[in-house]
Amino acid sequence: MSKKVYGVSVDFIDGFNESARSAYPDEFICFHREYDGVISEIILVPGSVYGESHSFINDWMSPIDFHKSGSAHSHPGYRNDPSDADLDFFNQMGGIHFITCQPYDRSSWKAYDSSGRKVDLELVF
Ligand SMILES: [Zn+2]
Repeated sequence: MSKKVYGVSVDFIDGFNESARSAYPDEFICFHREYDGVISEIILVPGSVYGESHSFINDWMSPIDFHKSGSAHSHPGYRNDPSDADLDFFNQMGGIHFITCQPYDRSSWKAYDSSGRKVDLELVF
């Protein structure tokens, strides 16, 4: 990361929740980039990240792009706490990781660091 992340843009959150809603009942997953400390860009991931595509994560983690800031995914239910698989993934990747759940609105998401601890991010309008 090029700078300490302190916030997330409301456009990112809205776009993330919208994608989560349209992927339902499947999980939606993407990566994100931060600019000037604010996570603001959704990066779509081809296929599933868990399991088969570890090489994709390795590519993702290559040091060419310093704006990469982590991942975001949705849960089909009402819980936005990380599963064991989520924690392994966060740990492997580093950065900041969003989980959103139903009803996929501006208050249904949480952000976690690579150890699975909750991170407070400012919502930037
Ligand atoms: Zn999950």
